[in-house]
Amino acid sequence: MSHDVPPRRNTMARTRLLSVIGVVGVGGVVGALLLWHAQVGDVLGLGADKEPVVSTVGAPAIGAPPTTTKLVTPTPSRRTTPTVPPKTATTPSKKPTKKPTPVSREESIDGLSPKLKSRLTKAIAAAKADGVRISITSGRRSAAKQQRLLNDAIKKYGSYKLATRWVLPPKYSAHVQGKAVDIGPAAAMTWLNKNGWRYGVCRRYDNEPWHFEALTTPGTKCPPREPHAVAKAD
Ligand SMILES: [Zn+2]
Repeated sequence: MSHDVPPRRNTMARTRLLSVIGVVGVGGVVGALLLWHAQVGDVLGLGADKEPVVSTVGAPAIGAPPTTTKLVTPTPSRRTTPTVPPKTATTPSKKPTKKPTPVSREESIDGLSPKLKSRLTKAIAAAKADGVRISITSGRRSAAKQQRLLNDAIKKYGSYKLATRWVLPPKYSAHVQGKAVDIGPAAAMTWLNKNGWRYGVCRRYDNEPWHFEALTTPGTKCPPREPHAVAKAD
C-alpha cells in the first residue's frame, strides 16, 4: 500500500511540474516571440509596410495625372473655345439677310393697269419670237418709293425743276398709277421703240429710252415724243 502511494504522488507531482514548466516555457517563448516580433516589426515590418502603401498608391497613381491634365488642358481649351463659337454663330445669322431674292412687284407686270399689262404681254411674246428678251426694271411704284426717287433726283440735279425732268412727283407719276413701265436691256428698248406701236405701246420721252406707256391704239402710229417729263401744276 505504502509503495503504491508514493510513486502515484511522484508521478502526479512530475506531471504537474511538467505541465507548469511547459505552460511557463511555452508562454515565455511565445511572449519572447511576440516581443521580438513587435520590436522587429516597428523597425522593419510595420515601418516598411506603411510607407510603401501610402507612397505608391497615393503619389504616382492619383497625384501625377491630375496635375498634368490641370496644367495642360485648361489654358488651350479656354483660349480656343471662346474665339471659335462666336465666329460660327455670327456667320449663320448673316445668311437669312440674303433672302430678298424673289422678284419684287415693281419689277414685274403684275401691278400695271389692265390695258398696259395686256398690251405689254403681247409685245414681250413678239419680241421673244424675234430673239429679244424684254425685262421689266420698274413697273408700278408706291407713292413713297416715287417720293424717295424724287428726293434723290433733287440732290443729284440740284433743283426741283431739273429733277422733275426725270422723276415726277407721286401725284403726277404714271408709274404710281401703273400706267408706265421701264424696260431693259438696250436691245429691248430698241425693239419696243420700233415695234411697240403694233401693240399700242409707245416711248414717251427723248431723255428716257427705257420708259414706255400705252399712248396709242394698237396698230396706230405713236404720238410725237416729248423732250422730258414736266411737273404740271408745280
Ligand atoms: Zn419710267
